[in-house]
Amino acid sequence: MPELVFPLDSSKPFTDQQIVGHNRWHPDIPAAVQVKPGDTFRVHCREWFDGAIGNNDSADDVRDCPLSQVHRLSGPFAVEGAAPGDLLVVDIVDLGPIPQEDSGPLAGQGWGYTGIFARDNGGGFLTDQFPDAYKTVWDFQGQRTTSRHVPEVSFTGITHPGLMGTAPSHELLNRWNTREGALIATDPDRVPALALPPLATDAILGSLSGADFDRVAAEGARTAPPRENGGNQDIKNFSRGTRVFYPVFVDGAHLSVGDLHFSQGDGEITFCGAIEMGGFIDLHVDLIKGGMDTYGVHENAIFLPGNVEPQFSEWLAFSGTSVTLDGEQRYLDSHLSYQRACLHAIDYLTKFGYTPEQGYMILGAAPIEGRLSGVVDIPNSCSTVYLPTALFDFDVRPSVGGPHQVTQGTPVPRSSF
Ligand code: ZN
Repeated sequence: MPELVFPLDSSKPFTDQQIVGHNRWHPDIPAAVQVKPGDTFRVHCREWFDGAIGNNDSADDVRDCPLSQVHRLSGPFAVEGAAPGDLLVVDIVDLGPIPQEDSGPLAGQGWGYTGIFARDNGGGFLTDQFPDAYKTVWDFQGQRTTSRHVPEVSFTGITHPGLMGTAPSHELLNRWNTREGALIATDPDRVPALALPPLATDAILGSLSGADFDRVAAEGARTAPPRENGGNQDIKNFSRGTRVFYPVFVDGAHLSVGDLHFSQGDGEITFCGAIEMGGFIDLHVDLIKGGMDTYGVHENAIFLPGNVEPQFSEWLAFSGTSVTLDGEQRYLDSHLSYQRACLHAIDYLTKFGYTPEQGYMILGAAPIEGRLSGVVDIPNSCSTVYLPTALFDFDVRPSVGGPHQVTQGTPVPRSSF
C-alpha cells in the first residue's frame, strides 16, 4: 500500500481530523502535505456532505442539505519543485470506497447515495420538471451496485473522483470572482442561482487562522464549478488508470482531490447525480517543467481517460433537439437538446413502472453515455443519451409483447419545502 499521507478517521467530522482539508479555492490555503515528483501516495476522501446524508428512506436531508459546506477536499498537496508554467502529471493509480469495517455511518461504507436537489436548494439539470428533493441509496457488492429504491437495476460502477485540481493564482482567482460576479449581477434573485459567490460562512481553510482566515474566507472561490484549474469536472472517465496534465498556477502546484463517485452517467444530471461516497485514492505525481508553453495547455487540464471501466455491448439510445417543451425553436442549443433526450429516456422508463424520479436517478447514477451528435444542422442541435441495456434485469428494448412491469419495493417520497 502506498504511504497514507492524508488520513481521515471515519468516526470524526472533517474539521476534527489530524490534518484538516479545505472547501474553497484560494492560493493562500497552506499546503497540508509535501510530496515529490515520482511519489505515489494514498489519500482518504470524505464524501462531499461529510455525513449529512443518511442511509434511510427519506429525502428530507437532501432537501435541507448544507450547500455552503461543500466540497470537503483533501489537500492541498504541494509538489516539490513545481512552479507556474509547469504541467503537473497526476496518475490515478487506484481508488475505492471506505473499508466497511471502519466505524461510523458515512457514505462509502458499503453504500452511497444519489440525490435530486430541490429547485430552492441547488436545483439540477431538469429542475423545472423535478422541483422537489429525492434520494436513492445504493448498496455496493464489490464493483456492482443495486438500490432498494430502484427495482430491477444493477450495474458495475465507473469509480472516479468528481473533483481534482490545482490551486489558482491570485490573478486567476480574481478573474473567476469578477466574471462570476458579473453573471450573478444579471439576475441576482434567480432561483436556482446563476453562480455561487464567495461565502465566508462554513469556509474550511486547512491550517489557516486569524486575519488570514477571514481574508481568504471572503475571497475563496466555491468548489461547485469546473474551471481552468480542473475542479469539479465530474468526468466519469477519470477512472483508474487515468493520467491528467494540470496547469500549475502557484509554486508547489497545490493539488487537491475529493468528491469520490462510485458511478455516474455523463452530465451527472441531477446535480448530485453520481453515487456519492467517501473512500481512498492513490495518486502518482510528476512534473513536465515548462509544459504549459511546450504543449499550449495554459488552462483546463488535458487527460488520458482511465482504462478500467464497465464493458457494454448494446445500448438503447434516445435523441433530442433544441426545441423547448412549449414548442419554441432555439438555435443550436445543445444543453436543451440533451435535456430533451434525457426527458425522452425518462418518459420511456415510466412505461416499465418506474416513477419519473427513478428514471432521472438511473440516468444520473448509471454509466450512461451522453453525446453531442450534431451541432451544425441549423436550427437544431441533436444530443443523444445511450443507456446500456444490461443495466436492467429485464429486456428494456421495445417489443410486440409490451413493456415488462417492475415490482416497486420502498419508493422514497418526494420532499418539498
Ligand atoms: Zn459528487
